[in-house]
Parts: sequence; structure tokens; C-alpha cells
Amino acid sequence: MTLPLWFDPSLCLIGGTWAAPASRDTLPLVNPSDGSEICRIARGTAADIAKAVKAARAAREGAWGRMTALERGRILSRLGQLVLDRVEDLTLLEALDVGKPLTQARADAVALARYCEFYGGAADKVMGETIPYLDGYTVYTLREPHGITGHIVPWNYPMQIIGRSVGAALAMGNACVLKPAEEACLTALAFAHLAQEAGLPDGALNVVPGLGAEAGAALSEHPGIDHISFTGSVATGALVQQAAGRNVVPVTLELGGKSPQLVFDDADLDAALPFLVNAGIQNAGQTCSASSRILVQRGVYDQVKERMADAYTQLSVGPAQDDLRVGPLISARQKEIVTGFLTKGADLSIAAQGDIVKTAPKGGAYVRPTLFSDVPPNHVLAQQEIFGPVQVLIPFDTEDEALTIANSTDYGLVASVWTRDGARQMRLAKRLDSGQVFINNYGAGGGVELPFGGVGKSGHGREKGFEALYGLSQLKTVAAFHG
Ligand code: NAD
Repeated sequence: MTLPLWFDPSLCLIGGTWAAPASRDTLPLVNPSDGSEICRIARGTAADIAKAVKAARAAREGAWGRMTALERGRILSRLGQLVLDRVEDLTLLEALDVGKPLTQARADAVALARYCEFYGGAADKVMGETIPYLDGYTVYTLREPHGITGHIVPWNYPMQIIGRSVGAALAMGNACVLKPAEEACLTALAFAHLAQEAGLPDGALNVVPGLGAEAGAALSEHPGIDHISFTGSVATGALVQQAAGRNVVPVTLELGGKSPQLVFDDADLDAALPFLVNAGIQNAGQTCSASSRILVQRGVYDQVKERMADAYTQLSVGPAQDDLRVGPLISARQKEIVTGFLTKGADLSIAAQGDIVKTAPKGGAYVRPTLFSDVPPNHVLAQQEIFGPVQVLIPFDTEDEALTIANSTDYGLVASVWTRDGARQMRLAKRLDSGQVFINNYGAGGGVELPFGGVGKSGHGREKGFEALYGLSQLKTVAAFHG
């Protein structure tokens, strides 16, 4: 695959100008499919973040701050069209940078366009309300931007996460400072170029690539930031929240999960099977809403195990350009983490594994997708987020037992219930500790329109849909006395 780089990846975007970071230093960007260096990116630091925050403030006080919601919406809609026009370029950039099979990378690019379309259309539809109050008063509310929003994005779905957080923030009129992940930031840079082409005023979107401990920490600590959206690990999320706490600014944290699918004896297994497997191996399992726990009622347990095992044996793992079901992990470090978990599962039975194609380059971060069966619910593999193509099968007898197991981890991002029993669907939808519950389907990562976010250590705050617009704005109450 040739890299469609129509821009210089070693620069930061600050106040509408692309320039080298203050450090003049760069970081290597590695192709996960073969371990080679793709190009070098800017090593932004606190000095660049400070400049970016200043530029964002100037944008808020200038052309961007004065723009009507309709005009902001039009820019986002234009940006959505530009993303669609460049879908193939964005697909290749993401496939090379993240190691995503082409089909997945293309789906992410289309989702980015969809976020721009959705938030472009929504920008002028967020309204306040009038509130009945005392005699002689008129009271109403205004939805206003926070001001300067910080966005710290991980490497697993750069385009989708930028779409849902930056898209919604811009729709509400915030000026953004974006810190993409050091492992994958080409589509963030491409997106910023397209945003300029769409007519986004200077400073409304600033992009500072760099290391988490340098640029990321500087962004979360900066006193000029009014709201932070963070997606990534629990440990880093806690640091970001502490930094935001010191500045008393709100944060949205999206920190991953251990999402279960509950399969009951009366489920339509033909419908369920593709979802059970795909939700675990999509993006090589590096999905915050991956379904890594499959809870199955005993009456159909053997059948589900056999059919899932069959699907696993047909899984091939290989480089992004081969467009197989599973690509490499993001890095050698992530491979080490996932193989560490596989070792911790040495006491468990493996129902089946996929295979790495013989032609896969030696330097790539490949692991075999692995399905474990009869896993005790309290086993480390059934409790901790693995972030690789690994699923555990857990048998259960009763609905209550399934619910207890499902709610037994620290996380609560997504859950699904497979049953034809309508009352059970409603009961479990209420009782599952989870930000989203799917009934007879599973929506890993999908659904631009659907509010998304976690409970417990999966984080707090909601992204996607209109809910994100409320989180990325603040409510002002105006009480007018006129007698
Ligand atoms: P991470 O949380 O360290 O990185 C995510 C983002 O935070 C990156 O942009 C990074 O540069 C930035 N960051 C890192 N340290 C920071 C700091 N001190 N202050 C501010 N920002 C900082 O995640 P990782 O190291 O890339 O991956 C480790 C694990 O995190 C994975 O194995 C996986 O379990 C989890 N993870 C979850 C998600 C998710 O979508 N929920 C995404 C990526 C990783």
C-alpha cells in the first residue's frame, strides 16, 4: 500500500498555521502490520499546548465565536462531504497507521463523515426552554459552549472518536485542542487539513501530536481548558480527571469495558452467532465496547460453544492490506499485554483459535484470536479488559445468575441480551449495570445517533447523539423581572 500523504505529518496545527513543534523533535510512527517506520510526527510539548490554547481562545473571541449555529453546521456538513470525497485516502492512512483491515478502516472513515453530517445538522437544533416562574418574570435557558475544549484520543478508533468528540464540540461552538495518540495520528492530521478546506476559521481546531506524558498531560493540566474529553485507559483517565479537578473543569471519560452478551436457551442462535464472534474480534478486539464475555444458558451452551469454535477456526489474521477478518494489534507493546493475558489463561480450556497467515511479516504485532470455554466468572480473563481478540465463554443456569455474573466486573459500557422472552428483555435492560443495552443485537462502536458512555470504571459522561451536545455545552438561566 502506498501512503496517500498529501500533507507534512511532522507538523502541528495551531491557530490555522502548520508548524514544527517548539521542541523541533519528532517521533516515529510505526506500521503495526510489519513494524516498519511509516513517517515521523511532531513531538508536541507543553509549549505547543499553551500556544494552541491561546489560539483557541482567540478563535472563540473572534470569527468562530461570532458565527451562528447555522454557519457552524454548514461547515461541519461540508467537512462531512470532504471526508466522503477522501474516503479511500483516509482508509489507507488508517489501515497503515492502525493496522486495521481495509474494510474496517473504510467503515471508520464513513463513520467520521456521518458524525460530521449528524452534528452539522444538529448544530442549530439545540434549544433552551422557557420556565414558568413567579408573577412578573420571564425565565429562559441558553445553551452555551464551554469555551475551549481539550480532546485526548487513543489509537484504536482515531476517526470515530475524533468525529464524536470534536464534531460535537465544534457544533456547539467550542474551540478545540486535539491531542491524538502517538501510535496513530495520521487521520487526525488529515481531518484537520480537510476542516481547513471546509472553511473552519483559524484556531477553531488545533492539533498537537505528542507523547501522553508530555502533550497529553500538559493539555489536561492547562488552566485555559474548560472541558476535557478523554478516551483511553482507566489509569490515564484517572490522571486526566485529577488534573481537571485541580482546575475545576468537567471531564468526559470513556475508559473501556468487559462487555457481556447474555444468550438464553430461547435465543435465535442463527441471528446471534455472527454478533457473538464479531463483537469480540472486530478491530482485533481493541474496541472499548468489545464483547469479551459470552454468558450462555446451559441448554444451548454446547451448541454455542461448538458454533463459535467453528467460526474461530476460520479466522485468519494478517496485514491490513490483506483485508482479513483480523489485523495486527497496534504495537509490540500491546502484543505483549495480550500474550500476557493468554499466559494467565493457561489453566483454562481453549475452545478454538484462529490462525496467523504464513505470509504475515515477522515484524507485525500478530496474535491468534482465542476463545476460552467454561471460564469461572471471577477468573482474571473474565474480569479484566484484555484489548485483544480474546473471548471467554461462561455457562449459567438462571436469569438471576446471569445478571449477577454480568454485573460482577468493575466496568459497565455495553451489554446485550439474546432472548425471545419480552418480559426478560425488559427486566434485564433495567437491571444490567451498563451505559447501553442491546436486545437481540450488539452495536460495538456503532450508532452515531445513540448516546454512549459507561458506568463504574467504564467512565462517565455521554458521547454520541444529542446527548454529546448537552455535555459539550453549559446551561445558563436568564431570569428577567419586568413586573
Ligand atoms: P492511554 O490511556 O495511556 O492513552 C490514550 C491517550 O491518552 C493517548 O492519546 C495518550 O497519548 C494519552 N495519554 C497518555 N498518558 C497521558 C497522561 N499522563 N495525561 C494525558 N494524556 C495521556 O492508553 P494506551 O497506553 O494507549 O493503552 C493502554 C491500555 O488502555 C490498552 O491496553 C487498553 O486496555 C486501554 N485503551 C482503551 C481504549 C478505549 O477506547 N477505552 C483505547 C486505548 C487504550
